[in-house]
Amino acid sequence: MDQTKLLARLLELPRSLGTLIDLETYLRSILSAAAELTDSETASLMEYDEVAQELRFKVVPWFHWEAVRSAKIPLNSSVAGWIFLNVKPLMIDDVKNDPRHYGEIDNLTGFTTRSLLGVPLLLHGKAMGVIEVFNKAHGAQYGGEDIFILEALAALAATAMQNDLLESSALLSQNEARSLDRLKNEFIAITSHELRTPLGLILGHSTFLRELVGNEYYEQVDAIIRNATRLKEIIESLSSVDNYQTGGASLRSRMVSITRLIEDVSASFRDMAVEKGVTLKTINESAQDLFVDADGNKIAIVLSNLVKNALAFTSLGGHVTIRSAVESNFVKVIVEDDGLGIPAIDLPHVFERFYQVESHLTRKHGGMGLGLSVARSMVEMHGGRIWVESMEGRGSSFIFLLPFEQKKEVPVAERPFAG
Ligand code: ADP
Repeated sequence: MDQTKLLARLLELPRSLGTLIDLETYLRSILSAAAELTDSETASLMEYDEVAQELRFKVVPWFHWEAVRSAKIPLNSSVAGWIFLNVKPLMIDDVKNDPRHYGEIDNLTGFTTRSLLGVPLLLHGKAMGVIEVFNKAHGAQYGGEDIFILEALAALAATAMQNDLLESSALLSQNEARSLDRLKNEFIAITSHELRTPLGLILGHSTFLRELVGNEYYEQVDAIIRNATRLKEIIESLSSVDNYQTGGASLRSRMVSITRLIEDVSASFRDMAVEKGVTLKTINESAQDLFVDADGNKIAIVLSNLVKNALAFTSLGGHVTIRSAVESNFVKVIVEDDGLGIPAIDLPHVFERFYQVESHLTRKHGGMGLGLSVARSMVEMHGGRIWVESMEGRGSSFIFLLPFEQKKEVPVAERPFAG
């Protein structure tokens, strides 16, 4: 074959790699090119089975497949085995006089091997299989050019096989990750469910006790109640993200004055702000009371989580401001602080469940990395959006949008913090 045609034929194969759907079809096209370009009767490809430590056929002409599909080629008494173990090409002009030939395959297929050429399939210098061509036409002998062609084709086959292996293992890891995530969700759902009942009992009995014990043990029983309440909040956070992710959460929407809700939440954090020496204020940038059609309790949780964080990450003398405004069809709420800020590298992750910027072991603040993921779930349940803008050392702004309700009449505002 003339050199240009040979090159063109060889180059066709890597090009078709992107368009062929499956590995077998591709390897088949490599084998037919191998037989055609070396002027051979047929070709086959064997793969090393690491567990059985034998070679097995991966692709052979279709009419031989049934005969050899379960055949094993012993490494120590076959030509393919010799090529594999020595990691070298091998040409045999007269197979019947070569003791290395493994006659069993000819017996199975009814094919008569007269001459052959084989080369190893190499990956990073290690053999992973063997490719062979058989019976050069007109009794001719295989030569250097045939080795060159077969080695080029073997390299293509090895790359394709490796790609296929990588693809399967990526798919496997993806499936494993999914099933781990499912297990984690189940664990969270079961644990929070199981913890709720005993915790409810602890809270109920200790509240009862607090009334009974009077001043003497009031502080101790109060500490039990405060910490049990904290535990209850953690469990609620865990299960609310879980409910949202599994589609189990429901909304009890009604017209809510977000302006009033902001005032209530802000009031509930006044003591904490004073204690920290941080100025906490609210600014309504629109002239009117702003209403949203929302589950007031859930929006109060969103706001509380943001304000709690803003206070936690702002030091003495700092400022936390809750702004509200109307932006096209949305009410926009911004909780801004001039505190610690968040490193750019962490910004894309802070809304992920259990994500914390500081290591859990070294951080000064409590929390489980749940507050923001709860906030995001709840805002998204309302058809809203939440994001953060922050600069390390300068402060952070957590911003969320909720669909704006235009109704003018004075609605019944939910006051989750009232009473
Ligand atoms: P946690 O309840 O553990 O604080 P969150 O989900 O509320 O978890 O927050 C995730 C992480 O985002 C926090 O650990 C903190 O590092 C960072 N973060 C949240 N809000 C702020 C803020 N206002 N300023 C600086 N860092 C913040």
